[in-house]
Amino acid sequence: MKPLLGDHPLVQRFNQIKLHFRLLETPESKMRLKEFRRFVRRVQETGLFVAFDLLGSMNFGQSTANSDVDVVLYLICHKHKDECEERNCAIVHRIAQEFGVTSLLRIHLIDCVNLAYLDLCLEKLQSESIVARFAFYRSICRSVNARLLRPFHMQLARSPFMLESIKPEVESFFNELTRSSTHNLSFSKYLTRVGDRDLKIPISIQQKIYEYLHYDESLPPDHS
Ligand SMILES: [Zn+2]
Repeated sequence: MKPLLGDHPLVQRFNQIKLHFRLLETPESKMRLKEFRRFVRRVQETGLFVAFDLLGSMNFGQSTANSDVDVVLYLICHKHKDECEERNCAIVHRIAQEFGVTSLLRIHLIDCVNLAYLDLCLEKLQSESIVARFAFYRSICRSVNARLLRPFHMQLARSPFMLESIKPEVESFFNELTRSSTHNLSFSKYLTRVGDRDLKIPISIQQKIYEYLHYDESLPPDHS
């Protein structure tokens, strides 16, 4: 599956940087990805349809033994619309418990996307937040069990109207991300980890990281 919004300059820049880190993936990242895939298979065997997008160090392939695994959970819930959280949704609660019981990894749930409600929004061409979040994650993340996501991904990819209408929100996600100190710190950490292994990210890509993290400074002032 091609990234959604793959022609957007911010998505392109992010994925270009990510690719360079992935080429230098740490052995821990590979092992943890395998472990995470095993975990997802075990959850599926219990009859739950779930998929994940990985963010952070697992997305960049720069995970170490101490890193958390930051994930977006995709689930199918007919009880809620876009309010599935661990505290109110039995399915999310169950999966979060599985994290603790069956996985050796420290998994950190960043967001939940209810595919049942996403389906409804795509059907009715409603550009709600859930569609923008889905497009954002599906533009930049690394999926586990992508098969479950494919029909929704493809449906949105075929809808230029929807993609266009959520673009401003996706841009604001990037804006928020690049301004967050944690995200800035993550890049420093990834660069250090690469350096510690006597490897190197090309200067041109380091320049791109800088531009990516400061992209909003090059925008014209907002007079609204
Ligand atoms: Zn729910």
